[in-house]
Amino acid sequence: MSLALSGIGVSRGVAIGKAHVIMRGSIDVLEISIPENLIEDEISRFLGAVETARQQLQSIRQRIPKDTRADIATFIDTHLLMLDDATLVTTPIEHIREYGCNAEWALKLQRDAVVAVFAQMDDAYLRTRRDDVDHVINRIQRLLLDTGQGETRVDSDSLENAIVLTDDLTPAETVLLEHQGVIAFATEYGGPLSHTAILARSVQIPAIVGAHGIQHYIQDDETIVLDGLQGLLIVAPDERTLAYYLEKQEKERQRNTELATLTEKPAVTLDNIPVTLMANIELPDDIEAVSRENASGVGLYRTEFLYMNRSTPPDEEEQYECYMAVIEALKGKPLTIRTLDMGADKEVDGNTSSGRSNPALGLRAIRLCLKNLSLFRPQLRAILRASFHGPVRMMIPMLSSTQELHQVLALIAETKNNLLRRNLAFSPDIKIGCMIEVPAAALSAADFASQVDFLSIGTNDLIQYTLAIDRIDDEVNYLYDPLHPAVLKLIKMVIVAGKSAGVPVDMCGEMAGDPRFTRLLLGMGLSEFSMLPSALQEVKQVINSSSITKLAPLVDELLNHTAPDRIPGSVDMLNSLN
Ligand code: PEP
Ligand code: MG
Repeated sequence: MSLALSGIGVSRGVAIGKAHVIMRGSIDVLEISIPENLIEDEISRFLGAVETARQQLQSIRQRIPKDTRADIATFIDTHLLMLDDATLVTTPIEHIREYGCNAEWALKLQRDAVVAVFAQMDDAYLRTRRDDVDHVINRIQRLLLDTGQGETRVDSDSLENAIVLTDDLTPAETVLLEHQGVIAFATEYGGPLSHTAILARSVQIPAIVGAHGIQHYIQDDETIVLDGLQGLLIVAPDERTLAYYLEKQEKERQRNTELATLTEKPAVTLDNIPVTLMANIELPDDIEAVSRENASGVGLYRTEFLYMNRSTPPDEEEQYECYMAVIEALKGKPLTIRTLDMGADKEVDGNTSSGRSNPALGLRAIRLCLKNLSLFRPQLRAILRASFHGPVRMMIPMLSSTQELHQVLALIAETKNNLLRRNLAFSPDIKIGCMIEVPAAALSAADFASQVDFLSIGTNDLIQYTLAIDRIDDEVNYLYDPLHPAVLKLIKMVIVAGKSAGVPVDMCGEMAGDPRFTRLLLGMGLSEFSMLPSALQEVKQVINSSSITKLAPLVDELLNHTAPDRIPGSVDMLNSLN
């Protein structure tokens, strides 16, 4: 009898094959007192495990075939770097000394502390970096507990064409499995933004995370279908189901071939209106995907990463070097650097408001920077200096009033003077833009537009603040609605305000990369989109099959005369137009 299990689809595609179940179970750690005279031995045991973990990761890194994309090695490098991080290594040693406890317990205490910090983070992507911490800590724990290796043991012969089902996978394991011929995987744990999920998309193997119950319901060698788009696992499919998925697989193949042919083509509508498609990046290494997908530039470079996992913020020089590397890699394509968008809950420079009950409404992003100029000024200097070497734009997150904008513009002017005095080069005409992410900013878009060079709509936050829904609270996720008429009205206002002021408007929130909304946005007059590189060809495909002349009146009708509950249906109708 067939059985279906569901999880979160993180990498689309259909795989049909035999199950290979690898369950390692949870790691149970007990607190054991260590006598005073054995403390140093315990510390050596801990350091020994850290060293073995390092050797394991280095060996995996060396085994990555030469033709593998560079960013895959980066994920393993991230784990290697964590092994040098005081948070994961020095603090447990302090715990062993202070509490006289075993290394496993000291490491567990530190894991719990780090996880608590991650859980409070406002940025969903950064929050899920917790998975990386878990993967590194689990590797050390397994070595300490001597439960075999820190790595999943896999028999390479049996993995060709297998679908791996497991409790969790590290990025390193994912790389190994892919090279052993695994065609898909599903895990019980892990989030959609984990590095493992990102890797699966990057190597294009279908994958599901959060598929609870795998170990109870599926056995080795059972035939299963894994649908990475729907997040579905079907065990022992009957003939009809199998035929359905074989056909779906064939359609996916055709679709991928079609999308691949689009990479070199421009994004231009049927009525010949060119559309700019840019990429959102977080790490300098994401640049590779920007050129692979042939994006016209970077519409959002989130700089938060530079500030994370360290006790002091990066100085001007470090930031400058980092921006320079991105500029060089972009080879003349524009780069939009967003100034620090740190939430109030993330400790920087000892100046935080963690513990406040509404961090999303608190001292975050530009508010934090304006209050903490020793944090902001080095970044402004670094961005301005980098602007001398390529087409750099500077973008300010979360502005809610033009007074804030005036402060920022004054600081930029002051920083330019400072650089002049220091004889440091910068581009005097660097373009400055505002992110429109707060309803107040959308309603004042005309005022903002008259004072800056571009506007960028951040729908992730705009939706959160318009609908009063914490974007990271699962309990209210169901209310998070990009098609809410209030959201659409605000987006339209910003586009109109930009047009009237002759200032370009782009969108860099997730909505821009969702092909379901492409026609709606085109019809609203949006002509610049910035999104995850992986979404680019699909959005381009929609653009290249759309006519703005046809869409504009239909979208006007939708915005002005369609009852809220009919809006999703009308958007579907737009999407089905030939
Ligand atoms: C947004 O809010 O839409 C956005 C792009 O910024 P972030 O997701 O980084 O808050
Ligand atoms: Mg935002």
